[in-house]
Amino acid sequence: MRSIVVLLSIAVLISCGFYVLAAGESEQIVWQRDEKKVAITFDDGPDAKTTALLLDGLKARKVRATFFVIGEKAEQNPELICRMSEEGHLIGNHTYSHVQLNMLSSSQACSQVKAANDVIKEITGQEVIYLRPPYGEWDHKKDCPQNMIAVYWDVDPLDWKRTDTKQIAADILRQVKPGDIILLHDIYKTSVQAAFIVIDELQRQGYEFVTVEELLFA
Ligand SMILES: [Zn+2]
Repeated sequence: MRSIVVLLSIAVLISCGFYVLAAGESEQIVWQRDEKKVAITFDDGPDAKTTALLLDGLKARKVRATFFVIGEKAEQNPELICRMSEEGHLIGNHTYSHVQLNMLSSSQACSQVKAANDVIKEITGQEVIYLRPPYGEWDHKKDCPQNMIAVYWDVDPLDWKRTDTKQIAADILRQVKPGDIILLHDIYKTSVQAAFIVIDELQRQGYEFVTVEELLFA
């Protein structure tokens, strides 16, 4: 009986990292934009309250998203990282402590990227391939020799400085086109609620939500 318990706990650990990523190598990736597919992405989490609420809503809507997480917050909320992985979301790096990489020395920038990768890999068992540089600033060659793919965005509703959920959602819905990457932040309840409005409307219009990886490499 004891050995079964041990085996089960190992299985949970492995299943937490089942989402296998393929490594890529390109700084400018051009992807198909003719199908009604979009990737919804969330930066700056995970947050114990708002990210959990978001994950519940994504699950109910059968939507897979991409999370660019901060390493130190991932360390504080490993169960949320595990849940993202188990529920089919893609997890990317948003540095260890949300720094502007191009303002640091090459070695400091690299250790920020590597520290966040290490935290995520420790929890999920998977290599991290995608990086969203905070403030969109990163010099791939100078800042860190690690082979990561930087992911920016097409639609930015500036949700971090707004409190009107309907306005955030309307802004996204006005701009969005097939093939777009939408930027939101899962540390604000208003952003999470806006995401649900956007998802419900775009699904009604026939859009499919995919991870960034599926959008770029499908
Ligand atoms: Zn950020």
